[in-house]
Amino acid sequence: MPHPTSAGAGLLVDGCTRGSVARRVARFGYIGGRLSLSEKALIEAIRRRTKRLPGVLLGIGDDCSILRIPSGHEALVTTDFSLEGVHFRRDWHSPEVIGHRCLTRGLSDIAAMGGTPIAAFLSLAVPSNVKSSWVKRFVSGLLRLAERFQVTLAGGDTAQSPAGVLADILVLGSVPIGKAVLRSGARAGDCMYVTGKLGGAAATLDLLRGGRKLRSDDYPEHFHPMPRVEVGSALRGIASAMIDISDGLSIDSAHICEESGVGAEILADALPRARTGKPSREVDLRYALHGGDDYELLFTAPSRRKVPKTIAGVPITRIGCVIRRQRMFLLGSDGSRTVLQARGWQHFRKS
Ligand code: ADP
Ligand code: MG
Repeated sequence: MPHPTSAGAGLLVDGCTRGSVARRVARFGYIGGRLSLSEKALIEAIRRRTKRLPGVLLGIGDDCSILRIPSGHEALVTTDFSLEGVHFRRDWHSPEVIGHRCLTRGLSDIAAMGGTPIAAFLSLAVPSNVKSSWVKRFVSGLLRLAERFQVTLAGGDTAQSPAGVLADILVLGSVPIGKAVLRSGARAGDCMYVTGKLGGAAATLDLLRGGRKLRSDDYPEHFHPMPRVEVGSALRGIASAMIDISDGLSIDSAHICEESGVGAEILADALPRARTGKPSREVDLRYALHGGDDYELLFTAPSRRKVPKTIAGVPITRIGCVIRRQRMFLLGSDGSRTVLQARGWQHFRKS
C-alpha cells in the first residue's frame, strides 16, 4: 500500500536507502521543510526515550506491539484527536504542553471507566515547516506524563500533514472483568459528585482568546491538566456511573442522564469552582457549568454508599442528585429551579 508520505511531500519513507532518498528529493523537490530528521530517525529518537514497562512485551520498532492484559481483566481502548486550531494553538501552547494535553485526553477516558492505563499509541502528522525540535519537545511533554502514570508509548505512526499538526492518541488500559464503570449505571435517588475543581481550563482559554500572555505554571488547570487515574480506579465498586468532564459539566452530565435514562438536579452553590491565575481568582459559575478540558470525573453513587471526601489527595464534592424525570435542573440558593441546558464549551471557534 502506498505510504501517504511517498506521494511527494515531506518526511522520508522508511526502507529507503540514502541514494533512493536523494533521488526522490531531486525528483520531487521534497525533504526540505525544516523537519530535518527523517521519519525513521524521528521514530528512533522517540523509541530511545521510551521506557517499556510491564504489560508491554514488545514496544516501538516492529509492525505491531505485543501487550499483555493482566489475567482476570479486560481491555479498555480509547482514541482522541488533538488538532491544531481546534484543541491547541502553537502560539499559545508550548510543544510540551500540547504533548501533555494530548495524552491527558486518553488517560482521562481510561480513568472514567475505572481502569488502569497500560500503553499509548501516537499517530502524529506534522507539516513540513515544523521543526523536528518541536516534535521532540511535544514527545517530551507526552512522555513525562506517561511516566507519571507508568504508561508505555508502545507505537504509533508518523506522517507529514498538509496543514496543521494533528495528533491522535490511542490508550489501552485494563479493568477487572465486568467492573468497568459505565455512563449508563445512574439510578434515580443516586447522588452526583465531581472530583477536583471546575472551570479553570475554560476560564484560562478565555484569557488566551482575549490576547493575554500567560505563564503556564500560573494556570495549571489549562496547561497541565491531570487525568484522575487513581481516583477513577478507587471509585470502582462505589460509582454507579462515571464520565470525565472533557466537554463541560452540563454536557457531560447530560451524557450520563441520556445513557442512564434519568435526569439530574445540580446545586449551583455546591459546584467547586477553580481558583486560577496569580493572584488567584475564583472562576465564574458559567465556566464551572459549561467549561471543558478540566478532565475531572463526574460520577453518581447510591445515596447509602459512603463516598470518601478525598481520594489520592483529590477532593470529592457532592453537587446534586439523580432524578427520575429526564431533564436537568440547576437549583439556586434562592430556591430557584431552572432547566439546565447542556452546553459544551466551543473551543477556539469563533461563535
Ligand atoms: P509501519 O510502516 O509498519 O507502520 P512505521 O515505520 O510507521 O511502521 O513505524 C515503525 C515503528 O515505529 C512501529 O513500531 C510504530 O508503532 C512506531 N512508531 C511510528 N510512529 C510513531 C510515533 N509517532 N510514536 C510512537 N511510535 C511510533
Ligand atoms: Mg506506520
